[in-house]
Amino acid sequence: MNTTSANQVEFTINRNANPLPEAERNAILQNPGFGKYFTDHMATIDWTREQGWHDARIVPYGPLQLDPAASVLHYAQEIFEGLKAYRHADGSVWTFRPEANALRFQLSARRLALPELPVDLFIESLKQLISVDKAWVPSAPETSAYIRPFMIANESFLGVRSAERAAYHVIVSPAGSYFAKGMQPISIWLASEFSRAGKGGTGEAKCGGNYAASLLPQQEAYANGCSQVLFLDAEEHTYLEELGGMNIFLVRKDGTLITPKPSGSILKGITRASLIQLAEDMGLKVEERKVALQEWRDGINSGEITEAFACGTAAVIAPISALKSKDFIIGDENAPAGKVTVALRNKLTGIQYGLEEDTHGWLTRLA
Ligand SMILES: *Cc1c(COP(=O)(O)O)cnc(C)c1O
Repeated sequence: MNTTSANQVEFTINRNANPLPEAERNAILQNPGFGKYFTDHMATIDWTREQGWHDARIVPYGPLQLDPAASVLHYAQEIFEGLKAYRHADGSVWTFRPEANALRFQLSARRLALPELPVDLFIESLKQLISVDKAWVPSAPETSAYIRPFMIANESFLGVRSAERAAYHVIVSPAGSYFAKGMQPISIWLASEFSRAGKGGTGEAKCGGNYAASLLPQQEAYANGCSQVLFLDAEEHTYLEELGGMNIFLVRKDGTLITPKPSGSILKGITRASLIQLAEDMGLKVEERKVALQEWRDGINSGEITEAFACGTAAVIAPISALKSKDFIIGDENAPAGKVTVALRNKLTGIQYGLEEDTHGWLTRLA
């Protein structure tokens, strides 16, 4: 079979003969944390230059077999996505804007010279996997199942060129409430010597290599009591870009949102795009443009900028109370989350959990 659309590619299902016993699964779902436990199954689709996408299957979760010469291990030809499955009050399970993730996965694939997975096949893989592992989607408020699709080049060849063989996989991890004790503002650390991505680089692609480059500055952040890193633009080191894995917004005292405009080196978050839409629905203005670090510092001092937050699928919204660097601190580490930040978070999570009307048609039922 060498067809590539979900209508034509049939998933075969090989059920795990030894799924985790229900009592143990329920114990995990009581306190899943983040990214620590995985469900009983995974999805896999293979690709070769000759055959295209083929052999779509749901199989027991387990180790991959990789040749030590597989290109991903040497040249980091890898991309990934992150989205969540949300259980609604009637027991059904939904996800949020999966076609946006599927399109971004194609954009990332192009940049990393990997094959593009058709959108309907991406979405079908989520439906198939979550249907089999539905019992793993927790139901307590603000819990979810984090879905991690990814693609690796697995051709055994040490020459440097794009691979002729790749594999797409999806794994799922139950996730607890990110803020177990209510929304906790975070302090963030300014990366002064490092950049996340440069012009023409891979900053707009969701690839593992970007994360590898962010880990050393991330260590520096932890050492300074911060949980995330803020990166500035690589050329002038003047303008805000984003955090290691979240986009950033500032809020003016009149409620206007300000966020860096993506121009090639910023990852275009789906949470970011959704919050821009929801803010406009609420009658707030949104400015997407270059935002100088100095503007933030001046705005805090003058009282013009009253809130800041980071956003992404995992945390949804994390209020930023302070920005620290070697030379200065702006903001107040003990400040609570701001009004606009809280309102936007409640609106977005309300839609995701089926508590608010989905006026934009953002939800897709998975199981
Ligand atoms: C995934 C990611 C984000 C957030 O994107 P969402 O679609 O909102 O989850 C932001 N920045 C980086 C670098 C990312 O990898």
